[in-house]
Amino acid sequence: LSKRKGRDQVNWFDAEREREQTQLTQLIKDLKGAMHRQQLVLYYQPKVDMRTCRIVGAEALLRWQRADGSLVPPGDFLPHIENHPFSIEVGDYVINQALSQIEAWQQQGIELPVSVNVSAQQLLAEGFVESLQRQLNRYPKVAASAFEIEILESAAIGKIDEAAKVIERCKALGVSVSLDDFGTGYAALDYLKRLPAQVLKIDQSFVRDMQRDDADMAIVKGIIGLARAFGFDVIAEGVETPEQGRVLIELGCYVGQGYGIARPMPAAELPQWLNTWKCPDGWHS
Ligand code: C2E
Ligand code: MG
Ligand code: MG
Ligand code: MG
Repeated sequence: LSKRKGRDQVNWFDAEREREQTQLTQLIKDLKGAMHRQQLVLYYQPKVDMRTCRIVGAEALLRWQRADGSLVPPGDFLPHIENHPFSIEVGDYVINQALSQIEAWQQQGIELPVSVNVSAQQLLAEGFVESLQRQLNRYPKVAASAFEIEILESAAIGKIDEAAKVIERCKALGVSVSLDDFGTGYAALDYLKRLPAQVLKIDQSFVRDMQRDDADMAIVKGIIGLARAFGFDVIAEGVETPEQGRVLIELGCYVGQGYGIARPMPAAELPQWLNTWKCPDGWHS
C-alpha cells in the first residue's frame, strides 16, 4: 500500500508541475502579446524634497493594462516570470520605455530624473551593463545622470561581490543606484561599506507605523543615521500623510514618495500634476 501511495504522490507532483508549466507558458504568451500591443505601461510616481517642495524625480512602476481596462500590478506577474529568460526582455523594455519618456519630457521642457526597478536576475544577468550602455547610447540627448536604477536590498545580499561590481560599473556610466525597501533585507552592515550605491530607500512598512511603533521609529532613525554615516542619500517611501512628512523632515530625511504626495500616474498626467501640486502645510522650513 505504501509503495502504491508513493507512486500516486509522484504522479500528483508531476501533474502539478505540468499544470504550473502550462500556466507559465500561457502567462508569458499573454505578456508578449501585451508588450507588442503596448499594454505593458509605466506609471510614474513623483519624488519630492519635502523641505523645499521641489520635485526631484519620479519612479517608473510597471503595470499591465488589460484589454478590459483593468490594471494588473507588477506583484501579480513579475514574480512568476523572474526565473524565465523573458523577464530579461521585460526589464530591457522597461529601461527603454523610461529613457524614451525622459527624452519626451525633456522636449516639453521637463527635466526629471527617472528611476526604474531592476530585479536581481536582471542586474546579475550576463551583459546587463552592456545592454544598459547600448540603451543609453540610443538616447544621446538623455544624460546618464537623469536615469537611475533601484534594486532590492535583498537582491544584492546573496551575491554581494557580483552585485557590487555591477553597481560600480553602472556608477561609471553615470547611472546612480538606490537600495530599495531598505531595512527589510537583513543585510549585514558591512554590506553598506561594500556596495557602491548612492541612495537608501526606507521601506514603506517602517514609515507607515513609525508614529505608533517605537521599533519602527528606531529603524527609520537608524537608517537615516546609517545613510548619513556612509554618505548615502536617503528617501522615504510610503509617505501617506503630511504629518509623516513633517516627522521625516524633523529626522533629517528630506526626500519622500507616497500616496500623500501622489499615486503613481500615467506619463501623460505628470506635466499637469507638476503644475497643480500644492505642498502640504508645514513642509517648508
Ligand atoms: P517598490 O519599487 O518598492 O515600489 C513601491 C510600491 O509601493 C509601488 O507598488 C507603489 O505603487 C506603492 N506605493 C507608493 N506609495 C505608496 C504609499 O504611500 N502607500 C502604499 N501602501 N503603497 C505605496 P507597485 O507599483 O505595485 O510595485 C510593487 C513592486 O513591484 C515595486 O516595489 C517593485 O519592487 C516592483 N516593480 C514595479 N515595477 C517594476 C519593474 O518595472 N521591474 C521590476 N523588476 N520590478 C518592478
Ligand atoms: Mg522601487
Ligand atoms: Mg520600495
Ligand atoms: Mg517594494
